[in-house]
Amino acid sequence: HARQTSPKSYAFFSTEMTLRASERLRLETALRHAVDRGEFVLFYQPKVEADTGRVEGAEALIRWMHPEWGIVPPDRFIPALEEGDLIHPVGEWVLREACAACVRIHAHGHADMRIAVNISPKQFLERDVVTLVRDTLDETGLPPAFLELEITEALLVQDVERVAGILAQLKKLGVTLAVDDFGTGYSSLRYLAEFPLDTLKIDRAFIVDVEHDRKSAAITTMVQSMAHTMGLHVVAEGVENDAQIDFLRNLGCVTVQGYYYSRPLPEDQFLRWLDAHPAPTQPSPNTCDH
Ligand code: C2E
Ligand code: MG
Ligand code: MG
Ligand code: MG
Repeated sequence: HARQTSPKSYAFFSTEMTLRASERLRLETALRHAVDRGEFVLFYQPKVEADTGRVEGAEALIRWMHPEWGIVPPDRFIPALEEGDLIHPVGEWVLREACAACVRIHAHGHADMRIAVNISPKQFLERDVVTLVRDTLDETGLPPAFLELEITEALLVQDVERVAGILAQLKKLGVTLAVDDFGTGYSSLRYLAEFPLDTLKIDRAFIVDVEHDRKSAAITTMVQSMAHTMGLHVVAEGVENDAQIDFLRNLGCVTVQGYYYSRPLPEDQFLRWLDAHPAPTQPSPNTCDH
């Protein structure tokens, strides 16, 4: 009786399949036009040292300004870009635009701001990302030390030797490397010893209940302590309230990113936010020598 399917449920299934396929096609077509028409923009979200209040820089986050649909968030279209080849032209545009924006931010009087850019695993595996980064830095005039590349654990479980080689070459250029959404992937902790990383970004999933949940608090404390011992920098993602910021300030040597300080902003608003953000009143009480 397992083969019995009611006509109704079959019809529903098939309609849904058709709908999904046609929707996907519509999205792909719209994305191809978006690339040609330049409908993407970058928003910038500040990264702030929890204990001193010093702004360290910003993460560049892509948005799609669709003429009818309005602002489309990246989770809605990055996977579709990654399915095809469109992630390459878009990823190249993001890198160039973010580096150029960082140069403009420096010229605006914030000469120590760094910029972080998300790089999709496909950009490492299917293109020469080292040449891309080197050429982009040359073209925009951004000194490499101001650029951080955010990678995901998904990249670190690929061909380990090849990926380690690429990351080592990127480090040689003088850029820094961060692991995004740390703690949510399926890779082992061993990669921390195998890859030349600089920063761990603790995923928002641990920060969201860090003040109520002893396990999230323990994981966050453990990651900060381990990272500090290894000479890695720590960023806490998705910090929204006073209790979370208090917890992280007590840990020491943590950079925070989240709505607590600011949502991601268009470039002009980000510059105004920087202008208005008070300079730190005290030097760092801890020696964060990394
Ligand atoms: P991500 O790199 O982990 O970026 C952090 C995300 O968390 C951003 O979402 C940001 O707006 C959001 N966020 C920051 N603070 C808070 C907070 O306090 N509360 C909450 N609820 N959310 C917060 P966004 O901009 O929608 O980006 C989502 C993801 O899309 C990014 O996650 C990243 O994986 C991807 N992405 C964004 N821009 C790019 C890009 O240029 N290239 C690639 N390959 N991926 C990108
Ligand atoms: Mg990121
Ligand atoms: Mg993240
Ligand atoms: Mg995240």
